[in-house]
Amino acid sequence: MAELESLKAGRGHDLRFGITPSAPEDSHLLDEADGAFGSVHSYETASRCDGPGLRFVLFVSGCPLRCSYCHNPDSWHLKDGTPITAGRAIDRLAGFASALRELDGGLTISGGEPLAQIAFTRRILSAAKKMGLHTAIETSGYLGDRVDDSYLSTLDLILLDIKSSDPDIYRKLTGRELVPTLRFAERLAAMGKRVWVRFTLVPGLTDDLANVDGIARFVAHMRNVEWVEVQPFHQLGAFKWKALNLAYKHADTPTPPPGLVNRVLGQFHAAGCNAR
Ligand code: SF4
Repeated sequence: MAELESLKAGRGHDLRFGITPSAPEDSHLLDEADGAFGSVHSYETASRCDGPGLRFVLFVSGCPLRCSYCHNPDSWHLKDGTPITAGRAIDRLAGFASALRELDGGLTISGGEPLAQIAFTRRILSAAKKMGLHTAIETSGYLGDRVDDSYLSTLDLILLDIKSSDPDIYRKLTGRELVPTLRFAERLAAMGKRVWVRFTLVPGLTDDLANVDGIARFVAHMRNVEWVEVQPFHQLGAFKWKALNLAYKHADTPTPPPGLVNRVLGQFHAAGCNAR
């Protein structure tokens, strides 16, 4: 079995696919036994944008959504990732633990979708807590019903992607239903679990006034939501769609101009959200 050392540290933006053609079908993702091993896309050792402080970011493979602007379509399938043991991933993380603690950082598991490999990510998050590390995941929340409270107890922070407040827009851009994400957000609010909401601003798709207002109103009363982070659409993942021979709908979509970003930030601020 391949080990974490065989993965090159790098950006999640690096293209990786077809690495393990014999991996189980993605329909088996949610029956991953005891999580002794998982499928990983890549990892980064010094991110400053995925939670507080310096972050070790593990990008796992497998995702049930198909976002039309996804910049990591090479993380959608297990077969595109590298199988590694949880033990080896934990050993690798341990090598960075003291530096992460000193720089007020920790571990963030992103993807792909961390909740598509619940047993595997639970093992790594639990081990990170034992190392005294701050822990976070970035998730769409679509699989939130599948995690129990003990899983959530391994997390200090959840970076929750709310891609739209409009069920039709959400379905159009992800291929899935919005309701599970909102239900997960409400559960986290009821628990008082610390959350940073992430919203990807895509001109012509998610920038509609009512759509942004809907997210702002939904989030504004949630005292556990510390930040709403507006993330401007970019084209960094466009080359992957071409390499994977996937139809890419956003070849002509521009990066949102500063005026649009400021308008959206203003909508969140006006609703009472801390937004940046
Ligand atoms: S949830 Fe994330 S990884 Fe999954 S398709 Fe959407 S953007 Fe890509």
